[in-house]
Amino acid sequence: MKKNNIIYADNAATTKLNSDAFEAMIPYLVDNYGNASQPYSFARKPKQALKEARTIIAECINALPEEIFFTSGGTESDNWAIKGTFSQKKEQGGIVTSVIEHHAILRACEFVERLGCKVSYISVDGSGLTTASELEKNISDDTKLVSIMYANNEIGTIQPIKELCETAHKHGALFHTDAVQAVGHVKIDVKELGVDMLSASAHKFNGPKGIGFLYIKKGTPIYSYMNGGSQEFGMRAGTENVAAIVGMAVALKENCLKIQDQTIRLKEMEKILLTVLDEAKIDYKRNGINQIPGNLSLSFWGVDGEALLHRLDLMGIVVSTGAACDSVETRISHVLKAINLESGYSNGTIRISLSSENTIEESADISRAIVKILKQ
Ligand code: PLP
Repeated sequence: MKKNNIIYADNAATTKLNSDAFEAMIPYLVDNYGNASQPYSFARKPKQALKEARTIIAECINALPEEIFFTSGGTESDNWAIKGTFSQKKEQGGIVTSVIEHHAILRACEFVERLGCKVSYISVDGSGLTTASELEKNISDDTKLVSIMYANNEIGTIQPIKELCETAHKHGALFHTDAVQAVGHVKIDVKELGVDMLSASAHKFNGPKGIGFLYIKKGTPIYSYMNGGSQEFGMRAGTENVAAIVGMAVALKENCLKIQDQTIRLKEMEKILLTVLDEAKIDYKRNGINQIPGNLSLSFWGVDGEALLHRLDLMGIVVSTGAACDSVETRISHVLKAINLESGYSNGTIRISLSSENTIEESADISRAIVKILKQ
């Protein structure tokens, strides 16, 4: 059933705000608006709220509360992890990342490269997967940081983070993962993974926009990136966005509690969506492997993906052609290039990303609409 006359299937770009998160935020916007850093009693409630939110978020990823640093979102967390590790000019040591990272990582790497840091890019296979042995080929004992995303934002492929992290540590390098597409969608245990840093963004897991966090394992040598006041244990300056932080904690906790059930539902929706396409004998490829639940990057042979997106839009169906930040550019994305998709398919790629807000019926409706458009 369509809600508000649209089927929203671009949840990898952003998600709907959880209504409990919204309710929890209101008191900190309306009544308890004090600056959490002040010493007077009016700051007590926001200060307590920050403490509780930090504890809830830490529990969701098996971290310590003091290892959670609030930021303005995934982009800032990624920039901090890269630039905070290399904030001294011409510092020794290099960075290894992958060719399919989000631009928040790629552009931050280009920045430190201009400061004299050597950056190496490891490749991926046709499914967007990289391996510990691929990392072995590019890493050296001079490598200071390895940054590999947990799950790709376009094709959904989940990387073998634990093994990649072990390889980085074997060479004395730190390991960061951009887990923006994964946190709140798959179980994340930072201790089990062994990562030193992990980026997350609230609006990808039904929290508010403009807020996120960087997990930094205790003792990790990293500089502060946002300089100014002594908020966030002196590591990230700026008056805390208490309401957004509270909303992020509520949304993450709720998402984490329902991950298992949600995964089953999303896999069911994926299956139905693909079955409708198969039954209509549509020539398509699903990109990626071991994808984040609900992510369907589909490439239709000989189709203009951009035109397909607009036709679907006219029918009230919201999908994406690739990464949200790339959708203004009509070129083939760096991710599709990296997986060597034939141009007959890559031009016709759309990303459907389903969430708990979607229904089985909607997923079938999306496919039926695609079939209708392609058969015309
Ligand atoms: N990293 C990945 C993998 C993403 O998908 C995104 C957003 O699309 C970001 C980073 C940036 O996150 P934010 O929108 O919170 O800045």
